[in-house]
Amino acid sequence: MGDEKPKFLIKGGKRLDGRKPEDVRPIQIKMGVVPNADGSAEVIFGKTRVIATVYGPRELHPRHQVINERARVRVRYDMMTFSVEDRKRPGPGRRETEISKVLAEALTRVVITEKYPTRAIDVFVTVVQADASTRVAGLNAASLALADAGIPMRDLVVSLSFGKSYDEKGQGHMVVDLEKEEDNWGMGDIAYAVAPALGEVLLLQMDGDVTLEEFKKGKTMADKAALEIYEMQKRALKARYEEGSK
Ligand code: UDP
Repeated sequence: MGDEKPKFLIKGGKRLDGRKPEDVRPIQIKMGVVPNADGSAEVIFGKTRVIATVYGPRELHPRHQVINERARVRVRYDMMTFSVEDRKRPGPGRRETEISKVLAEALTRVVITEKYPTRAIDVFVTVVQADASTRVAGLNAASLALADAGIPMRDLVVSLSFGKSYDEKGQGHMVVDLEKEEDNWGMGDIAYAVAPALGEVLLLQMDGDVTLEEFKKGKTMADKAALEIYEMQKRALKARYEEGSK
């Protein structure tokens, strides 16, 4: 990544990596990448790669965190030291703690936690390579890993970023699935997650400056892309299930 602000992030309707505003990066989903876990998945959005593993439902420690009526979904999001350009200091800081919290809240909304009172469902989201939008890639991976672990859910979580980019005249344009230059230099970025079948928004965080009109336009674009990602997730799970039943 250059340290100088680029003159434009979009020109002639094309972004720096050649995408149109409504295009996501090439997405890959790999199921069961960590066989020792109860469930796992890797999600790749362009150069962003994230692995999620799930352990549980299992006994919850420390005991004071126990919830009598339902399971507690715990998330630990972290980045590998080598996942970013400047070495990431090991261990979670303020940013990682915040991301873990919002991911746990989103997943708790779809997991049928009432089925496992007092238990823990532990989700580890590990960023292997970061090129922006890691929390949303991680949320897709976490949802798939939960399904891979056989944990009953009301819906899958589909997550992506959208935001405001600019052209050579400084004019703003809404785009989906931000890569790093767009995240760093863009005029606004939004982390978004939805449960498509339930029609519920599970995550919405914004940095920067976006008008309501622009937000609505970006959300419409993101909802359209979310449906494509939802279909990819279902295909990946189906393939995994067919492979497991052989
Ligand atoms: N990033 C980094 N070092 C860090 C944290 C973030 O280089 O310690 C980069 C990384 O590419 C990340 C991007 O900044 O994906 C955007 O980070 P943000 O906090 O907006 O979260 P994300 O978009 O990854 O969910």
